[in-house]
Amino acid sequence: MERESMPVDVLFVGGGPASLAGAIRLMQLIEKHNEGVADGSIEGEAYDEPFIALIEKGSEIGSHAISGAVLDTRALAELLPDWKDRGCPIERYVEREEMVLLTEKGKLKAPIMPPELHDAGFPIISIAKFQKWLGGIAEEMGVMIFPGFAGVELLRDPAGNVTGVRTGDKGVDSDGSQKANFELGMDLESPVTILGEGPRGHLTRDLIAAFDLDKDSQPMAYELGCKEIIELPEGTVKDGFVSLFAGWPLGFDTFGGAFLYSMEGDRACIGMMVSLDAADPAIDAHYLLQKLKTHPYVRGILGEGKVVKYGAKTVTIGGWASIPKLHAPGAMICGDAASFLNAARIKGIHLSMKSGMLAAETAFDAMKSGDASDEALSAYKQRVDDSWIRTEMEPTKNFHAGFANHGLVGGGLRFGLSKLFGPGATQAFHADHEGMDTLKTAHPGGAYPSRDDLTYDNTYIIDKLTDVYLSGTKHDEHQPCHLLIEDTEICATKCAEEYGNPCTRFCPAQVYNMVDNDESGRKEMQVDFSNCVHCKTCDIRDPYQIIKWVPPEGGQGPEYGIL
Ligand code: SF4
Repeated sequence: MERESMPVDVLFVGGGPASLAGAIRLMQLIEKHNEGVADGSIEGEAYDEPFIALIEKGSEIGSHAISGAVLDTRALAELLPDWKDRGCPIERYVEREEMVLLTEKGKLKAPIMPPELHDAGFPIISIAKFQKWLGGIAEEMGVMIFPGFAGVELLRDPAGNVTGVRTGDKGVDSDGSQKANFELGMDLESPVTILGEGPRGHLTRDLIAAFDLDKDSQPMAYELGCKEIIELPEGTVKDGFVSLFAGWPLGFDTFGGAFLYSMEGDRACIGMMVSLDAADPAIDAHYLLQKLKTHPYVRGILGEGKVVKYGAKTVTIGGWASIPKLHAPGAMICGDAASFLNAARIKGIHLSMKSGMLAAETAFDAMKSGDASDEALSAYKQRVDDSWIRTEMEPTKNFHAGFANHGLVGGGLRFGLSKLFGPGATQAFHADHEGMDTLKTAHPGGAYPSRDDLTYDNTYIIDKLTDVYLSGTKHDEHQPCHLLIEDTEICATKCAEEYGNPCTRFCPAQVYNMVDNDESGRKEMQVDFSNCVHCKTCDIRDPYQIIKWVPPEGGQGPEYGIL
């Protein structure tokens, strides 16, 4: 079988807001150029049939999309000034907002909202629906969208320049043999490849390593977010509200927090965010989300409801300090994959979109000049520096460093002072996987605390496997496991003893299980990869860094749809 090659003009990888906004911006520039050529105001040739392609590993645009999401519309208004008239899907607009400190049974409402967390007037969106809408506009403008295609490898020419992406083969059995439906992946060859894969993108990870793009930046830092949509009795949800929670059940040793938003109709969503440098190896964001729902205040709002959707994903929180070099010969990185999120505002969609638009402007220049060298693409970084991305993100560049190095109180104080006196020099911080305490330090008894204090009714309090079902996740079990563990002997020995196998807790989809093995007489690692919701937590938080996430067959994984 011969592998098919498809030459394209510009290739976007990932169907999130960054790539979609980039693809739309690029088509706008091409349209404007062609109009100028037609009326004589621009010299040169028109692009009669530009081939702008976008690949997405989910079965459709939006199927792997999950976010808060209260949208700052700044980038959207620049990209599509008539976004409201074009039917942008809005769940509600924020009318009421509060910030609440929870104790186990009580609550203390903040007298005022910190200015950066103000959401009043912003739209609450379903990111999955939003991406689908953007995808429709991109397609109408002529972008070729290929859903169900996972990029598995960056293509490089003999000089090392990135020349496109190879997509994954389909129909490969667990033992590597070809099934009846086998299809060879194709090579999408492009002078410019724009990676907008989201947090811990696997091709971005390879690009950063190949070109040492993070040598002058701080490590990428992440939180894991678990989110559920809850259907409430008819007439319950009356307005657009946002509640942000700090304190219980996370406590004051771990950075993170929770949110509750109203959505369209009688739906609301609730989410728990936990930093992936958490010291406690037993921390489990899914369990904490269930526990949060037992709080009397939260139960008072949501307790009559039924969970109808679940999802989990990491978000970048290192901000400006973690942004790597954004380009290599033939490639650029945008969106969450490059840390374009402002953790102090808990917002990133607008930054992701803007970064995709700026990468597109640079790609258009490369199309015109035929030059996609590292130097030519450095104009992207200049555009970022000259834009409001920098104005917004740079002042909070030490936000994560403050919390990672000085704890919640010290970090909060430092952030307050930085607002008065400026952020100063960039402060260093550790990679997330270096933040974990050993089992005996965190739990001197040598065992993880029990999670049996909750009663899982699987209507309102949901166990992990039922939530995986509600995420719509599906993988054909007859394919190679996409979670590559370098050495499972470490799981059974060193990790069991030193950390207690934290992946059995931090994975929000119960993929990792230590099970009794009669032959070895000990517990061995069992990887139930078909549960995986593609959150990437294991790739990031594993203390030995021996787990590598690679894409399963394209078109598989969660089906978020409304998250
Ligand atoms: Fe997330 Fe890894 Fe679990 Fe998949 S296996 S759900 S990527 S932690």
